[in-house]
Amino acid sequence: MPGSGDGLDVVEGATVLVQGRHILDVVRGSAGVDARRVELGEGILFPGFVNLHNHSINGPIFRGIVDDVGPEATADDLVYSMLMPLGDHAGTVLAEDEIRAVYRLALMEVLRSGTTTVLEMPRAVHRSFFAVAKELGLRVFGAPYIFSRPTRGVDAAGNPVYVEIDENRSLSDALEIADEYDEGPEGLIRVGFGPHATDTCSPDLLRRIGHEARDRDTIVSIHVAQSRIEVNSVRERYGRTPVEFLHDTGLLGPNVVAAHCVHAEAGDLDLLRESGTTVAHCPLTFARSGVTVSFDRFHRHGVRTGIGTDAYNFDYFAEMRAAGFISKLTSGDSDTGNASTLLRAATDVGASALARPGLGRIEAGCIADLVAVDLSGAHLQPVRDPLKNLVWNATPADVSLVMIDGKVVVEGGAILGCDESGAIRSATAAVHKLWESAEREGILAARGCGLRA
Ligand SMILES: [Zn+2]
Repeated sequence: MPGSGDGLDVVEGATVLVQGRHILDVVRGSAGVDARRVELGEGILFPGFVNLHNHSINGPIFRGIVDDVGPEATADDLVYSMLMPLGDHAGTVLAEDEIRAVYRLALMEVLRSGTTTVLEMPRAVHRSFFAVAKELGLRVFGAPYIFSRPTRGVDAAGNPVYVEIDENRSLSDALEIADEYDEGPEGLIRVGFGPHATDTCSPDLLRRIGHEARDRDTIVSIHVAQSRIEVNSVRERYGRTPVEFLHDTGLLGPNVVAAHCVHAEAGDLDLLRESGTTVAHCPLTFARSGVTVSFDRFHRHGVRTGIGTDAYNFDYFAEMRAAGFISKLTSGDSDTGNASTLLRAATDVGASALARPGLGRIEAGCIADLVAVDLSGAHLQPVRDPLKNLVWNATPADVSLVMIDGKVVVEGGAILGCDESGAIRSATAAVHKLWESAEREGILAARGCGLRA
């Protein structure tokens, strides 16, 4: 079948030969080699999605809570009044095995949606994220949170309450995690640095993190211009936009993934582009709060832009499509945010942001991260342009096979070696325990309303 432009080639009837952790070759027709064969039938094989911004634990614990909350809870309020406090509460109320169960539930959904690499920002106390990722065979970049001044809810006027903590301790916790879990540039598990945001980290801390990340050849992930509250707070303290502030600290660069940048100004986009910083675009988490953020705004400006699911849910297909639809709506042009552009953002653009050569492409010598989608379903037939069917019509239920680092981890629609029913039961029990405790503590209102009383 013909290619769909943007440098993406579709090769019909090809065989991908995998040896060890790498793709040995891609040949037309069937290869006469003595090896295990997986026939995909009417399927399409692509390099797996790279999820550039994720908070696994927040998906399950906020499910059914932060939707349809009404005008009294804007996107800004939610971060400070709900997301941070309930996330903190999970860290104190849930036992290690319960946290682990919630991560397992979330990462099962990540895998099932055809994601092979995820950049996660866990809390530093949630080291079990790394253990669960390893257990499931997922490729991860974990960037544990680092703070100078985390927030503790909001005051009566709705302003966030910042609490100064020992930033040296916060950084040393992150370094300790890196020492324990980072498998180095070739590894499946990488540890990066996760300074939380521009309003919760000091300039000195950000400078030190920049040095550490460069020394360790790893990435930095940070929330940038996510809310008006953050923008106003940084403006008040430093007289700069969040992006200008990061530029001043020397943190911007090709190893930095800036999540959201919703309120970035035109000059900020120039700084992001010129520094080679990547924007992690997560449209659905904002759409549900009534905030429009367009992939096309960053892409058109030449900013390297990947896609993340944040914590809305972990359905990468839905997130990718939302990026496309919102781009079309904001530009008024149906070819904006097209299938090829989105698929590139979801694969090799995301991979290049993580500085992992050989990731995000199906070519001889590349890393064997592969996802097969079965195109035989009623909603995917007939096939005229397989890339368009994949981007605009496929769902996680169509993912038939996931291979990561040369190892099959999902086959026949099931996660190998994982008791999925048991995992769902354990995680559900843990989240109900959290919700009940949060209701007693006044963090959550009684069921039926997600907001604090
Ligand atoms: Zn985030």
